[in-house]
Amino acid sequence: SLHLASTAHRVATSATLEINERVQALRAEGRDVIHLGFGEASFPLLPALREALAKSATATSYGPVLGIAPLRQAIADYLGRERGIATTADRIAVAPGSKPLLYALVQLLEGDVLVPAPSWVSYAPQIVLAGRRVVPVATDERDHHRVTPAALDVAVEGAIAEGANPRVLIVNSPSNPTGGMFAAADVEALAGWARRRGVTIISDEIYAELAHGIVPHVSPARFYAEGTIVTAGLSKSFSAGGWRLGYAVFPAGEAGTALLSALRALASEIWSSAAMPVQVASVNAFLPSDEVSTYVKRSARLHGHTAGRLFKALTELGIACARPAGAFYLYPDFAPFRAQLAQVGVPGGLELARYLLDKHGIATLPGVAFGDAPEALRLRLAVSGLYEAGEALHWDLLKRTDAFASADP
Ligand code: PLP
Repeated sequence: SLHLASTAHRVATSATLEINERVQALRAEGRDVIHLGFGEASFPLLPALREALAKSATATSYGPVLGIAPLRQAIADYLGRERGIATTADRIAVAPGSKPLLYALVQLLEGDVLVPAPSWVSYAPQIVLAGRRVVPVATDERDHHRVTPAALDVAVEGAIAEGANPRVLIVNSPSNPTGGMFAAADVEALAGWARRRGVTIISDEIYAELAHGIVPHVSPARFYAEGTIVTAGLSKSFSAGGWRLGYAVFPAGEAGTALLSALRALASEIWSSAAMPVQVASVNAFLPSDEVSTYVKRSARLHGHTAGRLFKALTELGIACARPAGAFYLYPDFAPFRAQLAQVGVPGGLELARYLLDKHGIATLPGVAFGDAPEALRLRLAVSGLYEAGEALHWDLLKRTDAFASADP
């Protein structure tokens, strides 16, 4: 008979993947569903990437564990040029998505893990799978979900009192699920806090290119280079989640080298390398190119435009929501409507998400999936209906985003 390990009982399929499967099932039954649940933009693939992938199909050999040299070099150059992160190719690890990298980092770093609430659905289960404790850090919607040194102190002291040993902090700006971004001063403050406390920062920057407001993206690596590992990839800014191409940036120096060697060993035993054809083609996403930067800028602007419109509509309805500054999510809180919702038989956020899907064909994700308020819902900023309408329409929309800049509410 089968005997599951204790961790196997403590995890369930990721809420995002589950809602996606439910939406596919409803659509297969002929239901019309507006899918605001999945963390993906439905933009067409950049032609330069598509053409490069068509040519790289013959790259069939196993690749180097940490990624092919031209890709690691192009990523390092890109980070210095566009993102203010000074690094070198030998500090970059390429992997099949940033998700396995995040898991590997939690496995390889010492201690329990501080995670702001709300946060991306997978951090907590990954930490649990790695046999560590999740240490939630409280944030406030009215304060744009900032992660402050004061809140970090409270979280650490509470955790230590309960016997935990918080040594790692995960931050994610722009944030999934709120779309919030840290101002440079806040990043500097939390980087300074981490350095004083000897805490390692994992900075999940998968949405960095999709900053769509006036707040520029600033990495904690700028202030705390020796203690920050950055993760990112092609999934969000290039609408290429299925390519499974992520990377991590490791600090220079002995400790960074030791961590990177451990990651290399772990990767060599688990995923071997990212898919070679995808690696070869992905170099084109990081080389300086007008086509690439126009595409990414337009995607960000389209998300910003949609966010602004939806934010305005929700605000006019009296639904509280922090205005997103990046990524492609809104995170309204329905707590003030508790009484009205209870009257129609909807006692909490989980039930609200189910109600919206079953009664109105709208798929969302409830706040509980993000370790947060039960009455909050994450809405993906989908350009709904267009996915099915076809690629030409997407390109047309992307092109027209230049006009949106002045039309934003
Ligand atoms: N981090 C955040 C905050 C995300 O939203 C996602 C995707 O859903 C990931 C990481 C993982 O991205 P990938 O594994 O596709 O690189």
